Amino acid sequence: MPNQVIAFISQLPIDQQYSWVKQLSKQLPNENIVLAKSLTKQQKEQCIIAIVANPAPEEVMQFIQLLWCQSLWAGVDGLVRAFRPLVSNNRDANKSGKANNIDFKISRLIDPQLAQTMSEAVLTSTLYLHREMHIYQQQQNQAIWRQLGHKLATERTVGILGLGELGKTSALRLKSNGFNVIGWSLSEKKINGLCCLSGEQGLKEFAQQSDIVVCLLPLTSDTRHLIDQGFLQELSAQACIINFARGGIINNDHLLSFLRENPRSHAILDVFDQEPLATESEFWRHGQITVLPHISAPTNRLTASIIVADNINHYRATGQLPICIDLVKGY
Ligand code: NAP
Repeated sequence: MPNQVIAFISQLPIDQQYSWVKQLSKQLPNENIVLAKSLTKQQKEQCIIAIVANPAPEEVMQFIQLLWCQSLWAGVDGLVRAFRPLVSNNRDANKSGKANNIDFKISRLIDPQLAQTMSEAVLTSTLYLHREMHIYQQQQNQAIWRQLGHKLATERTVGILGLGELGKTSALRLKSNGFNVIGWSLSEKKINGLCCLSGEQGLKEFAQQSDIVVCLLPLTSDTRHLIDQGFLQELSAQACIINFARGGIINNDHLLSFLRENPRSHAILDVFDQEPLATESEFWRHGQITVLPHISAPTNRLTASIIVADNINHYRATGQLPICIDLVKGY
């Protein structure tokens, strides 16, 4: 029996959707990958696999037999927000014997190339802060010629929040560039050459020791506003922050107070509560903030398509899905 169609469900601009379908089809010549909007009602109702990139939840819900949604992004907070309430409602509905149409699994993109790209961005920003380019920029703005003392990378502690696919690769890259690296994660970890912390007390120690904090946590109900006044007050006055994860992990008001009280501190932010960042946001014009437009680790279409193709081929051959996200944990 020929494989059923695989739906491509997305709200990306249409030219990008076509480019994705073209690239994915090249990697999966035996599959029929079709834009969701081109499918008939019957095809939608029979489809069991979808590849998604920023899908509209109501469109996904038309696929009543869906078993598996493969996302093209590493971050899944948007999907969790959209589908977690429906899945728990669904479980309740099951208990009461009502029909179920949303009991599907969601897998995210786990791509070693993406982790390398992120580690490159982390290294770039860490070196910028380590060599105090943010202070030299301030000095230039005031025509001040002042040579600051030089610290070795070994004398600088970089703390990575989140030691998952991206955090671990970034930590090891910083380590191989001579930095003293520490990390913090939910579960306790042992990673060669790294001091790994966890728990509330671990977070306090982490903040006290870090000269540069790099955030690579997923946004969940537990990590929302994790970087708040309590965390910031444990940092040293010159500590700097790099947020390449999600805007919601930082309490912006608390960050702005911290920067006001600590003029040698700096934040490099790639992610924001609202994207694109509103033109009236004070972040744009803040001398202690570097704004980046969510560019630290873009999905690479070729490597991502190869990973997705491997996942689908493996599923067709064995019936096994890749590692899927835990909707209750939120990542
Ligand atoms: P991941 O593999 O799921 O790793 C997440 C890490 O965070 C894990 O170490 C996990 O701990 C830890 N964690 C989760 N919740 C925690 C909590 N409550 N307390 C302490 N630690 C917690 O994720 P990833 O692939 O590294 O990606 C991280 C995030 O980067 C994504 O969620 C996405 O938002 C962001 N991202 C940004 C860009 C960009 O261009 N700016 C690109 C891609 C991804 P355990 O190891 O114990 O589970």
